[in-house]
Amino acid sequence: MSFQLDPEAAEWAAKARAFVDSELMPYELEAEMNGGRLPDGVAERHERLAVDMGLARQDAPKAHGGLELPVLTQVAMAEQLGRVTNGLSWCYPEAQSWMFEAFSPQQIEHHARAMMAGRRHVCYAITEEFAGSDPSEMATTARRDGNHYVVSGEKWHVTSYNVADTVIVQAAIAGGEHEGSHALFFCPADAEGLSVVRTPVYTHNYQHHHAILRFDEVRIPIADRIGAEGDGMGFTHAWFRRERLMIAARCCGAAERLIEEALAFAKQRIVSGQPIMSYQLIQAMLADSAMELHAARLTTREAAAAHDRGADVKTLHARCSLAKLYASEMAFRVADRAVQIFAGRGYMRENVAERFLRELRVDRIWEGTSEIQRLIIARALDKRGLAATIGT
Ligand SMILES: Cc1cc2nc3c(=O)[nH]c(=O)nc-3n(C[C@H](O)[C@H](O)[C@H](O)COP(=O)(O)OP(=O)(O)OC[C@H]3O[C@@H](n4cnc5c(N)ncnc54)[C@H](O)[C@@H]3O)c2cc1C
Repeated sequence: MSFQLDPEAAEWAAKARAFVDSELMPYELEAEMNGGRLPDGVAERHERLAVDMGLARQDAPKAHGGLELPVLTQVAMAEQLGRVTNGLSWCYPEAQSWMFEAFSPQQIEHHARAMMAGRRHVCYAITEEFAGSDPSEMATTARRDGNHYVVSGEKWHVTSYNVADTVIVQAAIAGGEHEGSHALFFCPADAEGLSVVRTPVYTHNYQHHHAILRFDEVRIPIADRIGAEGDGMGFTHAWFRRERLMIAARCCGAAERLIEEALAFAKQRIVSGQPIMSYQLIQAMLADSAMELHAARLTTREAAAAHDRGADVKTLHARCSLAKLYASEMAFRVADRAVQIFAGRGYMRENVAERFLRELRVDRIWEGTSEIQRLIIARALDKRGLAATIGT
């Protein structure tokens, strides 16, 4: 089995790399020093370039105007996007393949196609104060009232609400034959009854904030429900699989950048008359980092290739968890070693290793914590055995 990229995938990855290096990286420091804010017009320019390149429709079916790229190609591009700090690669909306199965024809037209064109910006409101790892504790409800649902509750950590026009909110159905089951709904970001409780400050400096939102009897037309009552968790799982795989890929890209930067520094930093690269303790940190990156990249690309081979969805669920778990923990270790190699400079906010050390921490938390990924893998081992879980 080989994970050499075919020429087309390599070409896409090269395009993504050029975009990151020439357009995004020059703004890393500016974003860091200004709470993620960019000069006027820059975010819009980044989005236009990303949309023109096809990033917003990379996963969408060809039948709907998408590129339908192999998942392995998409992962190779995400690796490149992961090489930049301060969330600068989050500059475009993404119409994901599961949406074309979940959305009604009108919703595809109104939301998915608009996302592909960079005209619709969506955020996801699932987590609550008392429902994070365990969504069954969700207290937000959707109660039918004529041709509407009335949604009430509070959502935490809603990433990108400050730049979104639409919220996809998950709620438990109240009343009726599907009482207690979950459903997803489209809700305009400026809907009556929807308000920001507060916007906490987080460890990283992203232009995309993470608001706490209050839904106070927000009326949502039935036509804006995604799928049927009870479909909510299934769609959320499809979204999680995609996000977990792409987090793994971005973590590989982050580790690649960190190793390259630390290696370049180690070769030119002279201590006691010698480049620190000549010291074996420094060499060991770089060697361990390269080894772990290689293992994480193989794991991630193999999980992507399993998608392209049409592997069973339950197997894919565990494989995405495996990739996210290993790659996110690997990248944090690599960032920690990079800080150590840069030493005093590695503790300065202008240093790439310092930023990544802070930014990569969240990859062990969001889209399911490392503990939850371990539980998913263990459950797969228990139900389907080792061979089915790791694909041997
Ligand atoms: C920056 C950021 C952005 C986010 N963006 C979004 C977003 O856009 N939309 C959204 O809906 N959510 C978002 N989240 C929420 C994120 O998905 C949750 O934080 C995550 O799922 C964990 O939930 P929690 O924080 O409530 O932790 P908890 O569920 O309270 O867990 C606390 C601790 O207990 C552990 N734990 C829980 N259950 C078990 C168990 N069964 N066995 C062992 N250990 C367990 C956890 O691993 C963790 O260590 C975001 C979070 C962050 C930090």
